[in-house]
Amino acid sequence: MATIGWIGLGNMGRPMTANLVKAGHTVKGFDVVPEAVTAAAEAGVTPVGSIAEAVTDVDIVFTMLPKGEHARTVYLAPDGVLASADPSTLLVDSSTIDFDSARALHEEAKAAGFRFVDGPVSGGVTGAQAGTLTFMLGGSDADVAEAKAFIEPMAGNIFHAGGDAAGQAAKIVNNMMLAISLEGVVEGAVLAQRFGLDPKAFYDIAKVSSGDSWPLRTWYPVPGVTETAASNNDFRPGFATALMHKDVGLALAGAESQGVDLPAASLVYAQLQKLVDEGLEGLDTTAIIRNIDPEAAG
Ligand code: NAD
Repeated sequence: MATIGWIGLGNMGRPMTANLVKAGHTVKGFDVVPEAVTAAAEAGVTPVGSIAEAVTDVDIVFTMLPKGEHARTVYLAPDGVLASADPSTLLVDSSTIDFDSARALHEEAKAAGFRFVDGPVSGGVTGAQAGTLTFMLGGSDADVAEAKAFIEPMAGNIFHAGGDAAGQAAKIVNNMMLAISLEGVVEGAVLAQRFGLDPKAFYDIAKVSSGDSWPLRTWYPVPGVTETAASNNDFRPGFATALMHKDVGLALAGAESQGVDLPAASLVYAQLQKLVDEGLEGLDTTAIIRNIDPEAAG
């Protein structure tokens, strides 16, 4: 069994490390928030007090941090991962971060003699707890193959998306497409109701017709239609508006740096921004229906 260094023990990092411990690995875990380290220790993680301690004498290092700025600090600071780990250690960043930061981390890691894989995940906290996350990996064939062996206990699906930063690219594009589909479902649900259609009757038609989509089937934004929808639960997440806002923002930042205009993504971002400005970023992302018709939201 291996020894794994882990930095970032938040909502995702804690259940992910718990599954590595269950699989028999030793996990040395660090977080800037001491309570997060204590909670991880309750699930068998070995608590450590610095990045240097987490990445010393380990077979692989994982990071699970909020954003690109946190990942850049953790890897590149004078007391960060690149300055503290042995360059033979494989590094995997599973945070969802912007494409440019992911590319920069690949370059900086290579320049310092390290091997680096970007490996964001999909599946949320429930997938992290169940060990069924989808991993999207970007990097060389050899590094991805080595990382996969450690990822197995946390994953339901593992994809090698392509070269450097391809995992982040796949994750960002996937979530942008989800957000745009969701806006269609939200607007459709409101108009169907205004036309006097019963929500369940309309849903049954759309899910076997060309209006079908993953958010329609999983997140129908009117209560009482799909079991898995946060609309049944006063829009408790689920998938928080704050995270969707961040992810569509990453898509727009990527689009800008790639010189392409994405009008639908910009529109959905403005809808998410409206909820954030109202202080509702903690609600499930399907709460964007409130922008169109607060009453349809139940
Ligand atoms: P979180 O905010 O709960 O956890 C991040 C942790 O990183 C926090 O505990 C924080 O204290 C720690 N951290 C920040 N800076 C640090 C530093 N310099 N050194 C050490 N620790 C530091 O976030 P999360 O929900 O666990 O998500 C982590 C990543 O996974 C994000 O990029 C998110 O977008 C992505 N993600 C989240 C979900 C989800 O449903 N929560 C699903 C898929 C992907």
